[in-house]
Amino acid sequence: MAQLFNTVYGRGLISELKNSVHRPYLVVTMEDLWPRFAAEFDDGLVGPLFVGSLEREDLDRTIRDLPRCEAVIGLGGGQALDVAKYVAWARRLPLFQVPTVMSVNAAWAHRAAVRTGGVVRYVAWAVPEAVYVDFDVIASAPVDLNRSGVGDIICYHTAHWDWAMARDVGKCERQWPYDQRLVDEARVAFDRVVDHAGDIHDVNDEGIRALAESLRWGGSAFHNAGWNPRHIEGAEHYVFYSLEYMTNRPFVHGQIVGLGVLLMSALQDNRPEWIKEVVDRIGVPYRPEQMGVTWDQVAEAMRRLPEAVARGGLWYTVASERPITEQFIARMRDWLSA
Ligand SMILES: [Zn+2]
Repeated sequence: MAQLFNTVYGRGLISELKNSVHRPYLVVTMEDLWPRFAAEFDDGLVGPLFVGSLEREDLDRTIRDLPRCEAVIGLGGGQALDVAKYVAWARRLPLFQVPTVMSVNAAWAHRAAVRTGGVVRYVAWAVPEAVYVDFDVIASAPVDLNRSGVGDIICYHTAHWDWAMARDVGKCERQWPYDQRLVDEARVAFDRVVDHAGDIHDVNDEGIRALAESLRWGGSAFHNAGWNPRHIEGAEHYVFYSLEYMTNRPFVHGQIVGLGVLLMSALQDNRPEWIKEVVDRIGVPYRPEQMGVTWDQVAEAMRRLPEAVARGGLWYTVASERPITEQFIARMRDWLSA
């Protein structure tokens, strides 16, 4: 089994960091979070560096202008952790990561999502000394964001169907032949989330730990499978890519992926009622109106799935195998509006 990031669970973890890290240390965080955590650090602090532009050129300039520091602490959600990664990589410094919410797997992924000319690119390489999951810190984050963290785990449901289907029709990509071992590993992370649906809904210690352990596996899965995404991502993500391209606005990743899982599981005829019941039990807000988009936009994003596949050079899934019909779109609208 490939290596996962060292992860520690507990309480009062942030105030211990100043006793561990090399000094002076840089904290990378969000401006709105800082007042809550400033008192946890001491006179060894440099910065903090507040996340602004994610454009790579801007980041490179910021890093050139940074004062001397000997360690980097990432504190926040995906963007803060990704910028911390990028700084640690560019400066070759030890990194400590403190996610303040369970919304994404950024704390456990090797690469940082930055932008080049507005386009997201995953670059760099950083393995933290430790990831600290503080139960009280996570539990104080917005509950919808914490629940939405399951999006990148429940998507294995549709991803695995896509990969097995591609194998059955002889359409697997040459570099990614179907691999049952990878699917079985992903299945452990998936089952853990399903088994703890109620705890994740409640954001209790058990739920935080279960979701974090699955995100921990998922975060490094792309790298650990030789940059193979087949067991962790399928057509449900294509719905997101298509909608994002159309609307050119940000989404809470787990919400839009959650909607994609429901739509594509129905297109696959892959236990849609069952996975919907799981997502409902966890409480992920996946309805278009909860994300500030309309059903018409979702419908158009589905019609344009083939374009998204062609544009992204994406792998063979139900989106290629089964064309979206107007009848299917109408059925989805009724199903998810009920
Ligand atoms: Zn994702």
